Amino acid sequence: MSITPATDDTMAKIVALCKRRGIIFQSSEMYGGINGFWDYGPVGVPLRRAVEQLWWRYMVEERDNVEGLDSTIICHPEVWNASGHLAQFSDSMTDCLACKKRYRVDQLENPGVCPSCGSKQMTEPREFNLMMKTFVGPVFDEEHAAYLRAETCQPIFVDFNTVRIATRQKLPFGIAQTGKAFRNEINPRFFTFRSREFMQMEMEFFCHEDESMEWFEYWRQERWNFYTKVLGLPENKFRIYWHEKLAHYAKAALDIEFEFPFGWGEIEGVHHRGTWDMQRHAEFSKQEKDCKYFDQDKKDSYFPTVVETSCGLDRICLMLLCNGYDEDTADTQKEGMDEDVRIVLRLPAKVAPVQAAILPLSKKLEEPARSVYTAVRKKLRAAYDDTGSIGKRYRRQDEIGTPFCITFDFDSVDDNAVTVRERDSMTQERIPISGLNAYLADKIDP
Ligand code: ATP
Repeated sequence: MSITPATDDTMAKIVALCKRRGIIFQSSEMYGGINGFWDYGPVGVPLRRAVEQLWWRYMVEERDNVEGLDSTIICHPEVWNASGHLAQFSDSMTDCLACKKRYRVDQLENPGVCPSCGSKQMTEPREFNLMMKTFVGPVFDEEHAAYLRAETCQPIFVDFNTVRIATRQKLPFGIAQTGKAFRNEINPRFFTFRSREFMQMEMEFFCHEDESMEWFEYWRQERWNFYTKVLGLPENKFRIYWHEKLAHYAKAALDIEFEFPFGWGEIEGVHHRGTWDMQRHAEFSKQEKDCKYFDQDKKDSYFPTVVETSCGLDRICLMLLCNGYDEDTADTQKEGMDEDVRIVLRLPAKVAPVQAAILPLSKKLEEPARSVYTAVRKKLRAAYDDTGSIGKRYRRQDEIGTPFCITFDFDSVDDNAVTVRERDSMTQERIPISGLNAYLADKIDP
């Protein structure tokens, strides 16, 4: 991953829009905020949920060989000993003594020089552990220390055998879960890109060592398709970064990166984890049988090899916001004004917070317009807005990425049809109310 400092103000505009429209904003803002924590507002929640649902459908519900799990955020502290997090999950950081900025050593081109002020007064790298610590029970001492999970995958390894027995799955098969993860990041930045509390969506695929590279290739392709086909984002905004330095147990590892306004950043990792996790949990729990798989046909018992796909839900949402943010001035320019900027969020219709907005041309049309709204809302995320001029209402919807605006006018009462305006093409089409849901469904998921 290579992140370069922001060269334009696109990020500042996105952050401002997100706050103004209730998409994402700083947590505890009235107390001055807390660095690395973000709240999702009424428009952000449906976006994040829709992306999560899309992932779940694609990774779990549409497959026979992946099962779902929802484990607790706090688990037995030994889990994090076994995983190596307590000993090794740290970032090597260096400080600039001149401008006081702090950096992750692995993200600096030249760790001896400050990228901000050019000073060569950089401190020796120091290790910072990223685990968030808490206490379970009434006594706040080391014996009662516990940790908020730093990744969602460890409980998957721990629950492997319970899930396998319950579902009668044979290898190869996967277990997926989505949920919160916590990291005491030293340098939270780039809006939600590096947060301290964030959502992960991970899938651990258990297979035999001999087949593991074929599965690695398979999942690499599947995950690429998720971004470019399921979400439909442009291929040229993505690239694959192959890790050169691999953990001793891994055969391959890559990051899928997206081109953010601040540079290329990791969205997802696809990792070959060998038998490392299962072996470590066997060693630490002393429950080897729960960490091994017995192949009935071959009468062979072995530690499964794991291929992992691991992505950050908040980073995907940020990617969608960055990819979708657009400004145009063309057809909104008014007389006497130099420029009248229209902000449009070109979000994929599948995950847009509001997929269709019903806009009656007059408040007098409320009753029939609301009945259209009720019908559309049964199938889609919909909104109803009758305040302000139609132009202002279009603008409000454009800003939150609504792909379809439906105007109900005086003719609608007679011809039982409405006008559908598409956000991106700005074309308007007259559609019979009876066929509206089918028309929208086809446009949203062709
Ligand atoms: P980075 O190098 O950016 O710190 P990582 O390699 O530590 O990321 P993983 O441990 O592989 O990340 O986590 C998998 C995914 O979880 C990442 O691809 C990213 O999308 C997400 N993620 C990781 N850390 C954060 C964070 N601090 N804030 C938001 N998302 C994160």
